[in-house]
Amino acid sequence: MLRAMAFQDPVPSAAPTVLDVLIIGGGFAGLSAALYTARGLKRGAVITSGPSRNAPSPHAGGVFSRDRQSPDVILAAALDDLQPYNFPVIEARVEALSGQDGAFTAVLEGGQSVQARKVILATGVEDVLPEQPEGLRDLWGRDVHHCPYCYGWELRGGQIAVLMPGLQGQSAVENVLYHQKITQDVLVCTDGPAILTEEERALLTYRGVTVLEAPLARVEARAGGGVRLHFRDGQVLERDVLYAHGERRVRGELAEALGCEVTAAGITVNAQQMTTVPGVYACGDVTKGNQVAFAVASGAKAAMQAAFSIFYDDLKRDREALTATP
Ligand SMILES: Cc1cc2nc3c(=O)[nH]c(=O)nc-3n(C[C@H](O)[C@H](O)[C@H](O)COP(=O)(O)OP(=O)(O)OC[C@H]3O[C@@H](n4cnc5c(N)ncnc54)[C@H](O)[C@@H]3O)c2cc1C
Repeated sequence: MLRAMAFQDPVPSAAPTVLDVLIIGGGFAGLSAALYTARGLKRGAVITSGPSRNAPSPHAGGVFSRDRQSPDVILAAALDDLQPYNFPVIEARVEALSGQDGAFTAVLEGGQSVQARKVILATGVEDVLPEQPEGLRDLWGRDVHHCPYCYGWELRGGQIAVLMPGLQGQSAVENVLYHQKITQDVLVCTDGPAILTEEERALLTYRGVTVLEAPLARVEARAGGGVRLHFRDGQVLERDVLYAHGERRVRGELAEALGCEVTAAGITVNAQQMTTVPGVYACGDVTKGNQVAFAVASGAKAAMQAAFSIFYDDLKRDREALTATP
C-alpha cells in the first residue's frame, strides 16, 4: 500500500539537511501530522514501517466522511493528499532516536540517520493476542473484534459473544453489560469458572446475559460472517461476532530513549500533545487513544504545536541576536 521511497535529503546540499519535523509512524496519526506539517510550510518527513493497527479489518467504522471504508483505502487517500506538498513518506523502521530539542537524530534500519528539530511519535500500539482459543488470531479484525464502536452497529439486534476469561471484578462485568447497547442477546464465555459475586451473577441474569463457563477450544469463521465457537465439552454455538481482547502493548521504546514518561497506558502528553521532553510530541494510539478519529485529531494538533514551537524558537534566537548586536 505504502509508496516506498528511499530516504534522500529533501534539499540536497553539502551539509546534511536538518528537517523541521520528523514524524515516526505513518498510520492515521502520523499522516495527519504530515498534512499539517506540510500545510504549515515546515520541512518534514514521515518514516514508517509495518501495518497500521486495524489493517486486518475490512472496514473502519466512525471515520468522519469515510465511515466503513477500508483502512487501506483511507490511508491511501491520506498519502494522495500529501502528493501536492511533495512530503516524503519513507518506508523504513526507526531503530534509535537520540538528541534534544532542536537537534534530534533518528537512525533508520540500514544505518542511515535523519536529523530534525522536532519529533512527532505516532508509532501506535501492538495488540498481543492470546494463543488460545485456536483460530482467534486468524479472525482478528474480521469476525473477532475488541471494540463495539468499531464494529457493533452492523450487528444491532443480533447474537454476540464476549470472551472474558474468569469474568472477575466489577469492570469486567460492566464491560460485558456494555455490549448490550448492540443487542440484548449477549453470551459471555468465561473460559473456565466465572469468579462472580452472587450480586454480579444476579445482575447478569436480570439483564438476560448468558454466562457459559465451559472452556473455549476453537473459533472458526461461519460461512457468510460470524463465528462458530467450539467448547471443550463438545458444545458448538454460532454467534454474529466474538468480542475479545489482547494485551495492548505501547510502542514507547523511542520515547523512553529520549527520556519521555511512558506508562502502560501510553506516552504521557499534555493537551497540546507535548510529551514530558521538550521538542517531542506524540499522538494517536501510542498516547492512549483507541480510534481513528482521535488519532487524526491528535496528529494535527501535534504538528501544529511543533510548528508553533519552531516559530517561537526562531523568534527567541533572533531577539537574542538583536540584543547581542552592538
Ligand atoms: C482490529 C481492529 C479494528 C479497528 N477498527 C477501528 C474502526 O473501525 N474505527 C476506528 O476508529 N478505529 C478502529 N481501530 C483502532 C485504530 O486502528 C487505531 O485507533 C488507529 O490505527 C490509530 O492510529 P495510529 O496512527 O495511532 O496508529 P497506527 O495506525 O497503528 O500506525 C502506527 C504506525 O507506526 C508504525 N511504526 C511503529 N513503530 C515504528 C518505528 N519504530 N519505525 C517506523 N514505523 C513504526 C507502525 O507499524 C504503524 O504503521 C481498530 C483497531 C483494531 C485492532
